Amino acid sequence: MDPYTIFADIVAGRAPSSKVYEDDDVLAFMDIRPMTPGHLLVIPKIPARSLAELDPAIGGKLFQVAQRLAAALRQSEVRCDGVNLFLADGVTAGQEVFHVHLHVIPRTPGDGFGL
Ligand code: 5GP
Repeated sequence: MDPYTIFADIVAGRAPSSKVYEDDDVLAFMDIRPMTPGHLLVIPKIPARSLAELDPAIGGKLFQVAQRLAAALRQSEVRCDGVNLFLADGVTAGQEVFHVHLHVIPRTPGDGFGL
C-alpha cells in the first residue's frame, strides 16, 4: 500500500497547514474541514499508518499535547466548555488519512456536533 499521505507533506513543509504546536516528535494543526470551530489534529512526525505501527512513547506524547491544547482551547476565543478527543484507527472506524492523528474537537452548548 502507498505509504504517502498529505500529512507527510505537512510535516515536511511541502504542503501548507495552520500549525498551533510543534516539537521534535509531534505536530498539531487546524483541521481543514473542522467539525466545530477550533478543531485540531495532533500527529506524530514519523509516519505511522495505524495504532499498531505507532511507537507507544510517541502515542503518549500525542495525548500529552492534546491535553495541553484542550486546556488552551478553553482559554482561547473558541471559549469551548468541553472537548472531544477522537482517533479513528482503520477504515471501518472511519479513518481516511493513514497517518495516525488525534482529533481535538472543542465543544460548546448547542454546537450540533453529534459525537
Ligand atoms: P479521519 O477521518 O482520518 O480520522 O480524519 C482525517 C481528517 O484530516 C479530517 O478531519 C480531514 O478534514 C483532515 N484533513 C484531510 N486532509 C487535510 C489537509 O490537507 N489539511 C488539513 N489541515 N486537514 C486535512
